[in-house]
Amino acid sequence: MQTEKLLLIPGPTPVHPRIINSLSLPTVSHVSPTLVTELKEALSNLKKIVFCEKGEPFIVAGAGTLAMEMALLNTVAKGERLLVLSQGFFAERMAQIAQTFAHDYDIIESEWGKAVLPEELEKKITENKYAVVVSTHVDTCTGACAPVKGYADVLKDKDILYIIDGVCATGGIEERMDDWGVDVILTAAQKCFGAPPGLAILVVSERGMEKRKAINSIPAYYSDLLRWLPIMKDPTKYFSTPCVNEIRAFYESTKIMLEEGIEQRFIQHTHIAEAIRAALKALGFAFFPEEPFLADTLSVVNYPEGIEDNSFRSTYLENGVVVAGGLGELAGKVFRMGHMGNLSVSQVCFALEALEKTLSSLGYEFELGSGLKAAKSVCEQE
Ligand code: PMP
Repeated sequence: MQTEKLLLIPGPTPVHPRIINSLSLPTVSHVSPTLVTELKEALSNLKKIVFCEKGEPFIVAGAGTLAMEMALLNTVAKGERLLVLSQGFFAERMAQIAQTFAHDYDIIESEWGKAVLPEELEKKITENKYAVVVSTHVDTCTGACAPVKGYADVLKDKDILYIIDGVCATGGIEERMDDWGVDVILTAAQKCFGAPPGLAILVVSERGMEKRKAINSIPAYYSDLLRWLPIMKDPTKYFSTPCVNEIRAFYESTKIMLEEGIEQRFIQHTHIAEAIRAALKALGFAFFPEEPFLADTLSVVNYPEGIEDNSFRSTYLENGVVVAGGLGELAGKVFRMGHMGNLSVSQVCFALEALEKTLSSLGYEFELGSGLKAAKSVCEQE
């Protein structure tokens, strides 16, 4: 049997034993009191995680890309214009979705490793009329975190809906729907929630739901929020069979998050990110994103001279840790290490020890123990 490796790719993230155990619960009827109660609780917990009181939460079988598609299709009417704020790969995907459904859109692209600044958004919305603005919170390809609160401030009190793709952030980095005036947060189960993949997750503001109702018909069936709304309000109703076991696992993940305290969870993500960054710096690595844009959910790390992507990742794997390679133009130049969800300090220490072992066997010169020491000194300060 293959021994289990520590999964430090940027999603799926390590699944907590409590969540794994919940996956072995029976597959009950999707309209049974058990599932109805658990889905309702999961929906209510989800709203707490994004600080939303009045909006509508949705949990649907799928993945983040489905949630992206649902967010656009349900908020942008034919003839309206969308503005995409892009710091990389996943906002480009959003633009492709807009193209697929023939929505008119403009895109502001930052250099990879940075993010669009709120001032750029402020200027752009004076040049054209936009119905909806969409941004990625953390781009999982570049590791750059966007100033989403700054965008929300620019859009506050304007007649423009604001969508955040929180797939690599929601539940790990602060997102306050009501206070900031965000209309849709879309995400997936496999990142900061630490549940297995399989769910498209959205929370939609009252204004967002009104917008959906105002668009008479949308070019979608399964993705239509108005078909799902009655089920989310009363899960004894049927539209399309929900993924019972995945919902049970997701419910458990939201319980873990709220037991820990959502604010505490944000602090923990920062804490772990700082420790990992300190270790990597001590070992002589540099990061792909510029300093102000470094995300607390993953690190995109440049390879130093002499370290080759395939041999690094395969040796690291032999030493018990799975990290991801670069995407697109970053392939071969960086590795991506996720540090989100239910990652413990002891798992981080294990990963850093395995990293030093990997680097030693690849003949890389560094001071043995310096990475772990730097990480521990960050932990002691906090
Ligand atoms: N948006 C972002 C920011 C992502 O990181 C990802 C997945 N890595 C997606 C969207 C798409 O999610 P999925 O792979 O679950 O379809």
